[in-house]
Formats: sequence, structure tokens, C-alpha cells
Amino acid sequence: MVRESLPQPRTRKMTIIAQDPSVRVKEGRRLRILTARVDVPAEELAPGPSGHRVQVIDYDSSNNTLYKPAKLTDGDPYETVTDAQLLSDPGFHAQNVYAIVMRTLARFEFALGRRVSWGFNGHQIKVAPHAFADANAFYSEQDRALMFGYFQGQKNLVFSCLSHDVVAHETTHALVDGLRERYTDPSSPEQAAFHEGFADVVALLSIFSLPAVVETVIDKSTKAPDKNVPELIKASALTAAKLRRSALFGLADEMGQELSGIRGNPLRRSAELPPSKEYIDSPEFFEPHKRGEIFVAAIMNAFIEVWVNRLQGLGKISRGGLDRRRVVEEGASIADSLLTMAIRALDYAPSVDLQFCDFLSALLTADREIRPDDSRYNFRGILRSSFESYGMPPTSRPHADGDERGIWEPPPDSLTYDRTHFESMQRDPDEVFRFIWENRKVLDLFEDAYSHVLSVRPCMRVAPDGFVLRETVAEYMQMITLAASELRSLGITAPPEMPPETNVTIYGGGALVFDEYGRLKFHISNRILNADRQTRRLKYLWEFGYFQQGSSALRRFANLHRLRAMNLPTVMPGEE
Ligand SMILES: [Zn+2]
Repeated sequence: MVRESLPQPRTRKMTIIAQDPSVRVKEGRRLRILTARVDVPAEELAPGPSGHRVQVIDYDSSNNTLYKPAKLTDGDPYETVTDAQLLSDPGFHAQNVYAIVMRTLARFEFALGRRVSWGFNGHQIKVAPHAFADANAFYSEQDRALMFGYFQGQKNLVFSCLSHDVVAHETTHALVDGLRERYTDPSSPEQAAFHEGFADVVALLSIFSLPAVVETVIDKSTKAPDKNVPELIKASALTAAKLRRSALFGLADEMGQELSGIRGNPLRRSAELPPSKEYIDSPEFFEPHKRGEIFVAAIMNAFIEVWVNRLQGLGKISRGGLDRRRVVEEGASIADSLLTMAIRALDYAPSVDLQFCDFLSALLTADREIRPDDSRYNFRGILRSSFESYGMPPTSRPHADGDERGIWEPPPDSLTYDRTHFESMQRDPDEVFRFIWENRKVLDLFEDAYSHVLSVRPCMRVAPDGFVLRETVAEYMQMITLAASELRSLGITAPPEMPPETNVTIYGGGALVFDEYGRLKFHISNRILNADRQTRRLKYLWEFGYFQQGSSALRRFANLHRLRAMNLPTVMPGEE
């Protein structure tokens, strides 16, 4: 029998709290919690909800209770609910975390053009929306889980699972851990800062990509009473300074008033950091969270600049002011594009020992590969100036100028491909390793180190104009452990007070980006034999107590977050 059937829907709408319960919008005379309906990948959900990548398990370890799994029927069961229900219905809490975690995963998969794994073995991440009675939330690689706590606020219980920003931030840790597993190694202050700063950037841009949020925070004073009249925003309200005040500070003031106990207010702290080249070398900013705020500030300032530039282009069309809806849509769509760019850059970032300046070169190159013409928005020029205004110039050697300045340099053309097979290079770590080993001299590898291909990932990315880019991205790493007294043979200077018998592990590694014909386009590496960099790293680790006993207890994300909220100094995350 032939049955005709409609294709299964690819996405499903779900209601979430747009930022957190403290962000409210006027409805009649009352203030209501701002919600948004977002698209999440459609799937047959088991009770929990439990899907192919996310399993919500509502277990509360503080009172040893397992709550009834939520059954999310088809459609959007929470589309029309009261604020009281949003706050008190555990079923909604389960939907809120499920939808935000899935949406964040889907953003990564869209940007990278392939499936993206969590940072542990296994397909499904467990999510506990009411994990414990404590003002904390974290990703635990060991438990393969995201844990969200709750606590007594001034009036009500405060649930971290209802904060978009906190949920997206923790999900990003789990995704970055899967994409760049060595970023939790003990390294420079910037590598630890990057994990935090990048998670904040993904969370903030996800929120700004919701038009409802932009609409709520922007220029509240000029809202017209009648919805049918096209509302105009005066051109004078659309300068960089004013948009920064209304959008960045506006949201920062409203969001997380009670949740600041969990990880402070990253938007406020980075919005308060005006451009300056002083921070990057100042000892105060060696603390990973503070350093992460420099990164967040550089990206959020670029967001405002691109937005203003775009609006000024439109301003010539309509005199007297700009259509409010247009301003909001442009802001949300620019946030969304920047989010895609930031995620794509991970593939073009070195596999070990990341610095912010490396990330800038990665951002510029990854975007140029898929979207060569940037004339409409000038994202790349604005990002480059914004990073430079915070003392973070691109890492790449000067080899291109003008619009291209800062992109990664191409690999040497003396590479040999004769003994490797194109087909297997797209999926087989042993084949990629063979390529690397054959070319170890040209690629500047250290022959005596332990070397390992960490991942081989074919991807297919789609540009806004429909152009399709096929690439294969591989990562490898090298490590060698030596006594401090032997470091000099590699040109590395050990800290003078370090006992000569101390065991020291030196890391190197790189990302290889192959084109659709299997030719290497970029080799983005931090070499073992970069003596300056290795010396700086050891000096930092030594000064911040990494080699002293007992420091390892401070290194989990949970503690990083707690210490951040309490404003205490931290050591970077890491293992060993
Ligand atoms: Zn974090």
C-alpha cells in the first residue's frame, strides 16, 4: 500500500523566558515576564523531556527527590500561561532548559555545518533544572550533566534554570569542551579566560538575537501608544554611545538582579570596560574572569558598532527617524550573524594554548572563507578595530593588507600529498596523522614529542547567499614532559625558583583546515618550540601556584563560577 504523507516538520516552537524573570514588559497596566517563542529541532520526545541529545532529569540532590518527568505534548503547551505558572510549574522549567540547551546546540551545528558532540563520551547530556539548593550552576564533564541550582531570593525562590543567559553559558562550556578538549589544560590566563568569555559571548548574543529582547530594552521613552502607527526612533538616539546605554546597560540593569549571586553580571561588567590597551598587561586582569571580560567587551562593542553603521546606512532613506521595527530587526539579526561568526572561528583556532589575538585571526579568516564580500556590514573591519582598541591585534604575520589584514597566512606550498588518500583524509585520524608525519618538517612539528590527532571533522557550511563551503577540519596535539633542568635544551627558561627536578609538561598542536579537494588551506599552530610562549606560560603557572600542592581543587567550572560571583581570585581550569 502506498501512503501519502507530509514531510515531518524540522522544527517546533517552544515558549521560553526570554532572559530571566526579572526582565519584564508592559502589558496593559501590568508588568509581565518577557517570554519568546523559539524554534527548536523537532523530535519525538520521551517524558523528561528526553530527546536524542538532551535528557532532562529533575532530580534534586538537596532533598533527594526525583520529580515527575514532564510530558511535553505536541505544539507549545506553555504558549499561554500566567507568570505564576512560569515561575512555579516544574514542567515549564523542564521545557525552558530543554529548549535553550537544544537551541544552543542547534546554533553550533548550523554555524559549523556538521553534528557537534558534547565534551564527553555519549550523545545525551543530562540536565537537572533543580539540581540543588544553592546559588550555583555548572557543567560537569564527569557527570555528563548540566546542573542548575535554586535559592531563596529576597521575595521568592530564584531558579537559575529560568535564566537564558545562565543556561546558554553552561551549555557552551559543554560544547567548547567537545570542540577543543585541550582548552581546559593549564595554560595562560587567556585560555581559561576564553572558556568563560566565549560562553558569555554566546549567551549574550543568543539573547540579543531575540527581537523581543531588543524591543524591550531599546529606547523605552519613544514607544507610540497606537500599535498601527509606524513608530519612529529619532536618528539622534541611534549613536553608538546611546545604543550602548540603551541596549547593553539597559539589559544589564534588568537581567539577573537576583541571579548575580551565580556569576555576577557579565554584561554590565564588560559594558563598563571602555576601550583601552592598558588592561591586557595589567596584573589585575590576569585573573581569568576579569580577563574574559576584555574579550566580551571587544565583541559586544563591535556588535554596537556594526548595528550603528547599518542604521546610519538606512537613515538616509527615511528622514526624521527610523522605523522602530527595522531598528530592532537589524539589531537581532546582527547579533545572530556575529554569533555564527564567533562559533565558526573555533574551527580556525589553534588546538592548544589559545590567546585572544589568535581568536581574532580565526574570526577574520573563518568569515572571509565563507563570506568574502563584507561590504554591507563591515563585520571584519569593525571586529578588528574593536579587538585592537583593547590591545589585542591579530596574531597572524603581516602578509595581507586592507580588508584582509589579520587573516591566517597560507601554509608553505612544499607540502606533499603523494602518500595519503583524499577519501580517508576526510574521516580517518590515522590517515591525517600520516599526512602530518610525512610533512612534519614543513609543519614544524617536534619529532620527539608524543603526537596525537584529536579529531577529523568534515563539514558543509552554508553562507547567507546560499554559497556552500566544504571543508575538513582536523586537530592534533603534541606533548612532552621534561624536568625543569632539561627545559634549556629547548630554549625554554624555567622560573628561577622552580626546583630543577620539577616535572613540566610542554604542549603544542594545531588545527588543519583542508579544502574540498583535500588540500591544506590553513595550518594554525602553537608549536612546542615556541620558546617565548612556553617560557611565559610556565612563568604564569608558577606565579599563580599551579605547581604548588592543593591547587587542583580550585579547577572545576563549578568553583570557577562560585569564585567569580564572590569576586575571589581563581586558578584556571585544568586537569592533572
Ligand atoms: Zn562559566
